Amino acid sequence: MLFKEVVGQEDVKKRMIHEINLDKISHAQLFLGQTGYGSLALTLAFIQYLFCENKKENDSCGVCPNCQKNSHLAHPDVHYVFPTVQSISKTADPMLKEWREIVGKSAYFNLNDWINFTDDKGRRPIIGTDESKELLHKLSLMSYEGGYKVVVIWMAEEMNPAFSNKILKTLEEPSAKTLLILIVENGDYILPTILSRTQIRKIPRLSFSEVTEYVKTKTSMPLNEIESMVARTEANICEIQAYLSHADSESGNRDLFIEMMRSSFKKNVVEMMDWADKVSGIGREQQKIFLEYALHMCRQSILKNYTDDQLTRVSNEEAAFLKNFAKFITGNNIVEFMKIFSDAHYHIERNANPKILFTHLTFRAMRFIHFA
Ligand SMILES: [Zn+2]
Repeated sequence: MLFKEVVGQEDVKKRMIHEINLDKISHAQLFLGQTGYGSLALTLAFIQYLFCENKKENDSCGVCPNCQKNSHLAHPDVHYVFPTVQSISKTADPMLKEWREIVGKSAYFNLNDWINFTDDKGRRPIIGTDESKELLHKLSLMSYEGGYKVVVIWMAEEMNPAFSNKILKTLEEPSAKTLLILIVENGDYILPTILSRTQIRKIPRLSFSEVTEYVKTKTSMPLNEIESMVARTEANICEIQAYLSHADSESGNRDLFIEMMRSSFKKNVVEMMDWADKVSGIGREQQKIFLEYALHMCRQSILKNYTDDQLTRVSNEEAAFLKNFAKFITGNNIVEFMKIFSDAHYHIERNANPKILFTHLTFRAMRFIHFA
């Protein structure tokens, strides 16, 4: 991957290029941040630049044999470790084909995307004990081409204790020209002894404007809808891709939200039950997107009420809806509304029964909407 293919993150890129050119590369690095902000994309561009035989000032050449190998994730001195469902494969290597395929589509994907891509049963993958034996084997190999040997560990928070301990040992006895890169979304799940022995590279949130520019190249959606989507996802590219793959459902979310709020406001129990029936049939991924949409509309209502429209990032249709609706979400009930939607999101991710959950949700909304 070229640096120029990575969205934004100019400061991080500059620092990486600088360190490589000065040959001041820390042998153990931890990239900390949302995958949707480019932690994997930056890792791939970093590695490609490191190995490039014809480095340019700001990027790798993209054509030398090393660049070619790295762009296909096929460089013999670069190893990838990622979580796997243990009953499918105990280690990462047998799943390299799937890994190359998903990265080939986009270097922006999260653990959930990886699970959906590799296991139709949706089981939780880990980086396990067998992988730790593999790691020792890989580290003991000489590098094929006499340069760096790199091990990338994607979603390192999924390491089990056996693997974490092997990593710790490796960090205590570093070998020259070996580079370990851990990619982590949540540092709370990493042993403090590992954190303290790695150079932590924070991957900050992307700016709304740079992500909007990027999304404009991916869809023909009107600009105000793109801006609404970027705001709603906090510029997280993984989440934006999920929205885009359900793009035709954008107006569906709005209709569902309006329907729910109207029937709850009128205390029309028959309509509320019909609504819950309908939403329970749309599938979990789509339900999560709907709930994120609902959270976004609550936030936008509050912004509209308290800032005179200044900060709202919504499409024209949403603006028309908010004009009437925003007065129902105020300082008196915003906390309750945010809580019912985020609780529902939490439980949907954990396989709650959707019919019970959405029935409960609309009855709670009926109560809170009258507090406004
Ligand atoms: Zn090159």
